[in-house]
Amino acid sequence: MSENGALIRLKDVRKAYKMPAGDFYALKGIDLAVQTGEFLAVLGKSGAGKSTLINMLTGIDRPTSGEIWVGKDAVQAMSEDQIAAWRGRNVGVVFQFFQLLPMLTCAQNVMMPMDFVGLYGGPRERRERALHLLERVGIAEHADKLPSAVSGGQRQRVAIARALANDPILLAADEPTGNLDSRTTREMFDLFGSLVDEGKTILLVTHDRDLAGRATRRVRIADGRIVETGAVHHA
Ligand code: ADP
Repeated sequence: MSENGALIRLKDVRKAYKMPAGDFYALKGIDLAVQTGEFLAVLGKSGAGKSTLINMLTGIDRPTSGEIWVGKDAVQAMSEDQIAAWRGRNVGVVFQFFQLLPMLTCAQNVMMPMDFVGLYGGPRERRERALHLLERVGIAEHADKLPSAVSGGQRQRVAIARALANDPILLAADEPTGNLDSRTTREMFDLFGSLVDEGKTILLVTHDRDLAGRATRRVRIADGRIVETGAVHHA
């Protein structure tokens, strides 16, 4: 745990991208604490810095300055190799376009993170765990199909099962329903809700205000800064 008991703590996180005209700051000093078991929705317009923030938190990219603590780990202080291993064990990430490997079956996609960190025994045990996770997200019967043989909503369920593969302390989802119809979107939020009920901590980037209302807390980002925390104020 970091100093105030929060699972995640960001201190003055800034991120500059090098541009021909000079540095462009996509994050301009983010301070944020997230407690274990929170379901935090991150709202904001396109270009506000939401994906950049998720990428900092998950170690996909590094901050230019500031501190990011997840549990007792200082993400910004790790080497590239350390970050990859840390992410594999501690963070599950869900993307808008699923990012499943097309030549692997659904079950094999879910086994990949286990293979990567060498957890959960051998191939037989890993497959068993993958099938269990696919059952958990409601698509066990598609385990041995390729992603191209299932619907978008089903692909996202596979991606969520993959994100849960190593029982991460944090699940981060970047517009996970951005490419799904409204019924599948509702189902996906039910699934996130039940994962939170089971004690997972979830950070979810979304454009959907109604669905964000189902999170336990909301933060709004504009122009690289947190401009609002707490309840969403509907116009
Ligand atoms: P959001 O997820 O809220 O749409 P992003 O975090 O993707 O916003 O982007 C925030 C800002 O940073 C945008 O102005 C975007 O153009 C810029 N940006 C994002 N990634 C890069 C990059 N790799 N290089 C340069 N600028 C970037």
